[in-house]
Amino acid sequence: MSAKILDGKWVRDQILAELQPRIERLKTDHRPPGLAVVLVGNDPASEIYVRNKIKTCGQLGIYSEKVAPPDTISTEDLLGIIEGLNQRPEIDGILVQVPLPSQVDKHRVLVGIHPDKDVDGFHPMNIGHLVANSLAARACTPAGIMEMLRRYQIPIAGQKAVVVGRSDIVGKPMALLLLHQHATVTICHSKTANLPEECRRADILVAAMGRAAFITRDFIRPGATVIDVGMNRNPDGKVIGDVDPEAVRELAGAYTPVPGGVGPLTIAMLMSNTVQLAERHLCSA
Ligand code: NDP
Repeated sequence: MSAKILDGKWVRDQILAELQPRIERLKTDHRPPGLAVVLVGNDPASEIYVRNKIKTCGQLGIYSEKVAPPDTISTEDLLGIIEGLNQRPEIDGILVQVPLPSQVDKHRVLVGIHPDKDVDGFHPMNIGHLVANSLAARACTPAGIMEMLRRYQIPIAGQKAVVVGRSDIVGKPMALLLLHQHATVTICHSKTANLPEECRRADILVAAMGRAAFITRDFIRPGATVIDVGMNRNPDGKVIGDVDPEAVRELAGAYTPVPGGVGPLTIAMLMSNTVQLAERHLCSA
């Protein structure tokens, strides 16, 4: 039997449809949710991501605003822009698109966003909430993957989960979210000894490495659920994941394709986090 495809667009559409009445309620009772996206410079990939985020806001009735300072901006000036957004009541969420130019201190920028407006869940205070499993915005990509597992009724409690990658935006939050759902979690990285053997233990394997088609047959336990976060561009511009598509199709029980798997979930969760922050701001107004 061939592996089941976990369709990110199907999950995204469900998430967005469920947000619609919440957005309507906010608009009727108060004001639309508001998202500010800060795009420094003109990195072409970042411009596409930001355009898609703004477009999705428009489709849902979320107020959005793009702030686009030049790539020569100093850390101080960028912090000034963020502080201005922190002060504005109609802005519920602030997102600073990465990568930032090298002269900008990324850590100071992250910490400069007010934790209540940190729509990406990257502020150290919200990382603390993640570790403690208390309420706060969660990093969008891992949160979207949890939604996908839930909506496809993939069991998590008691399962062995292996996350390959330990970045602050994907690997670490992913591992913690799986742990909170009672998986037994292993985190792997570039210094892990015998990576294929570690991966073969996984009932749920999450590949978030940024290495095109690195996860081959040797890494996949037959029947496993394989989540491919990777978005790598090959020389002809085609996007390929971290997982070898043929191997996963033949061996996995279920898997996310690239494109069309994890990618659509990230924007959906950004919208969800914006609405959640707006509801919290409205409650405490
Ligand atoms: P990072 O480069 O920040 O992290 C990559 C991680 O993978 C690191 O922890 C690194 O280990 C590990 N790694 C790299 N090579 C190997 C290897 N050979 N063996 C084992 N581990 C390895 O990447 P991100 O977490 O930001 O992103 C990962 C991928 O996910 C990228 O392709 C990115 O484009 C994609 N992505 C997709 C999103 C989506 O919406 N679909 C959203 C965000 C990211 P070490 O720490 O030891 O260096």
